[in-house]
Amino acid sequence: MNYGFVIDNRLCIGCHACSTACKSENEVPLGVHRTWVKYVDAGVFPDTTRHFQVTRCNHCAEPPCVDICPVTAMFQREDGIVDFDSNLCIGCKACMQACPYDAIYIDPESFTAAKCNYCAHRTEIGLEPACVVVCPEQAIISGDIDDPESPIRQLIDNNRTKVRKPESGTKPNLFYVEGSNWTLDPTVTSEVPETYMWADVEDKPQNINRKTFGKSYSSKKSGDGPIKTGGKVAEHMVQVAYDVGHKKAWHWPVAAYMTSKAIASGVYLMLCSAVVSGFIALGGAWSMALESVIVTAMIATGVLLCVDLERPDRFLSVIMRPQWRSWLARGAYLIVGFGGMASLLLVINIGAMMNVRALQNAQTYLEQPNVSLVVCLFTIPLAVGVAVYTAFLFRQAKGREMWQKKYLPLHMGVQALIAGASICILMNCLSERSDNLYRLSVFALVIGLVISGAIICVGHIFDRTRVKGVRIANQHLLNGKYRYWFWIGGVVLGHLTPIMVIFSGSDLVGAISGLSAICGLYCYEYAFVLCAQEVPNS
Ligand code: SF4
Repeated sequence: MNYGFVIDNRLCIGCHACSTACKSENEVPLGVHRTWVKYVDAGVFPDTTRHFQVTRCNHCAEPPCVDICPVTAMFQREDGIVDFDSNLCIGCKACMQACPYDAIYIDPESFTAAKCNYCAHRTEIGLEPACVVVCPEQAIISGDIDDPESPIRQLIDNNRTKVRKPESGTKPNLFYVEGSNWTLDPTVTSEVPETYMWADVEDKPQNINRKTFGKSYSSKKSGDGPIKTGGKVAEHMVQVAYDVGHKKAWHWPVAAYMTSKAIASGVYLMLCSAVVSGFIALGGAWSMALESVIVTAMIATGVLLCVDLERPDRFLSVIMRPQWRSWLARGAYLIVGFGGMASLLLVINIGAMMNVRALQNAQTYLEQPNVSLVVCLFTIPLAVGVAVYTAFLFRQAKGREMWQKKYLPLHMGVQALIAGASICILMNCLSERSDNLYRLSVFALVIGLVISGAIICVGHIFDRTRVKGVRIANQHLLNGKYRYWFWIGGVVLGHLTPIMVIFSGSDLVGAISGLSAICGLYCYEYAFVLCAQEVPNS
């Protein structure tokens, strides 16, 4: 058994009976939708056409929403239905980033993820989904697509069908007969309407589409072919007339958490480098100051992660019942492991210091660094893991093409280096200086800035990719609503200003450089996280 849907666009009249029946059957709250009918108008009066698309979860054969879910709240049943369990969901919204079709929403009453589940409660007792039963045109067909005798299989075999975004590799089990590219590809429409029926638009329309984006964001090449009117190609006359609103799932807390974990792991790597080089002593004042920063940054990371959950009361589920394919679950273990080991190191060193003071026992002091050195070295892989794991989490977010870049693990590792070195420089400038640690930090910062700058040039500024989602996101980053975050924050504050540290040894310049690099890192992360979510998925 492998359940799927066929939507027969030859029959659909856009009456919304399916949307309404779904709402009623599943008690879907106001403002969110498990299925909806998108309208797209194309052409120039009087040669206009209206295209409908019944839009919902595709019950993909390889569902990325299931892989990324850290707690098995999103799961695939034996019969192919991709279902969800509200009792398990922690509201991390990772599934919303993974779904390339905008099929998932956060229920405003339970604060958990929800979507079309093929009316599993009906299917289990031999009934068809509510939308299938209610459709007056029989435009929605459900059934077993693996059964060669089933009507749905026959329809698929005997007609030209299309699926949404086949390139995403999710193998959707929802097929459109006579599917229109104007509706299937959400990036061909050139305007975002002021309002949608039944829903607010989060971001008001901006004049970026035509003016800034030019033809790359227009419909001419991507749709069903040019529409000719009076000898002119009406390339911009493809617009959404009716849709539901979709809000961005991840905001500033994600950028802040990326910055705080970069600080923690980066400072740790600087600490280890300085200890191994003999620049500072493990258990000494500098070591304990850096360890305190690491522990504080890890606490901030944990708090930010919880703040971003829709159900923070369930945050322990990630640890207690992890879904191991999810990098969110793996990351949680890395964070707990690294935070725990860094805290242990600090406790050992504080304990040893108190012991020395209390007993004046020089022998204890000499023995103690050996223990902490072992703890310190064993923690290095955890620190590297914390620095880079988000790149693999982003790669699981198949709905965001900008996050699929292969260099992301390297970039996040380098960002940790920049953050760690910047904090060390800042601390050196605000307290009694350790010259060797300062020089090491300046060296690490400059190396990090050069590599990071090169990655930003290749990955954003001079990127000529043909991947449309990346191109649109890059346009938002470089010329769109995130341009100030990117250019002033990411480039000027994050890369150019900190370079000053090479040319001046003054504490003031050093402190400005360190602070500027950290602020710039946050700005870049913010723009990077948000611009990818600007690309429409439905
Ligand atoms: Fe449904 Fe989206 Fe998951 Fe595919 S990825 S099964 S469309 S929610």
